[in-house]
Amino acid sequence: MTARRTIGGQAGRDVVTRFAPSPTGRLHPGHAFSAIQAHDRALAADGRFLLRIEDIDTGRSRPEHVAGIMDDLRWLGLTWDGEVVFQSQRMARYAAALESLKSRGLVYPCFCTRADIARELAASASAPHGSDGPLYPGTCRAIPADRAAGRLGEPHAWRMDAARAAALAGPLDWIDEITGTVVADPLTHGDVVLARKDAGTSYHLAVTVDDAAQGVSHVVRGVDLFAATHVHRLLQALLDLPVPTWRHHALLTGPDGTRLAKRHGAPTLAALRDEGVDGRAFAYDLRSGRLPLGFGVASA
Ligand code: GLU
Repeated sequence: MTARRTIGGQAGRDVVTRFAPSPTGRLHPGHAFSAIQAHDRALAADGRFLLRIEDIDTGRSRPEHVAGIMDDLRWLGLTWDGEVVFQSQRMARYAAALESLKSRGLVYPCFCTRADIARELAASASAPHGSDGPLYPGTCRAIPADRAAGRLGEPHAWRMDAARAAALAGPLDWIDEITGTVVADPLTHGDVVLARKDAGTSYHLAVTVDDAAQGVSHVVRGVDLFAATHVHRLLQALLDLPVPTWRHHALLTGPDGTRLAKRHGAPTLAALRDEGVDGRAFAYDLRSGRLPLGFGVASA
């Protein structure tokens, strides 16, 4: 952010927010909406706005999208503070965090394929469900540690033993600037993957480690990630990391009222720019609630 000023009365240089896109495609207006809110939350407190590229998915991330994302943000009139952080360069940090959880028996290797999990779920009469659908049925949690250790040459993910981890951490809560105090429900995602077979980490682990390492004080992101915060809060407790405040904002919706996403045919910001749309004016409209192109806002 080039110009620093205090709008909201909460002065101080301690507010740090970030925008953390995955460079698997170009940004669409929903991303712009989110980036603007993270940027403006920092601006209002004379704080810092960071850009982090979440490129742990090396198969789907593309350098040209990284460059495109930066162009899109500049087009919107958003500038970020400091160096851009790339998650692909921080694998050793995630490995160290995973190691710390392994040493306390809070994760276990999972050898299941998607097909194995689907079969197991189909066979079980009452598979537990979380906010994102059926939960991992816990198959590999039952493998004795010595047998699992003997199979580590096979492809495997690492899953959190959520019940054990939650019991160790005890009751947790967190503060969302919009919702208020939220009692954490870390079992909502079940035994979540902390290190993918193909990536050595996962979104949940990387985002938690990095928000702490970058000193992010306010995690501003869409309400679609609200449930993930239960997992992140637990990881912070287990890894002894500072606890930020969250601000899960409403999502931009398309003219049909559904959440904007590329798969719904939302125009990319690049396409809008090519059509001659003025990025700063577009950002102004998104900020002012005078939503362009038939966009709306939904809280879930
Ligand atoms: N990388 C995530 C995404 O593109 C956002 C992560 C976050 O804000 O926590 O959806």
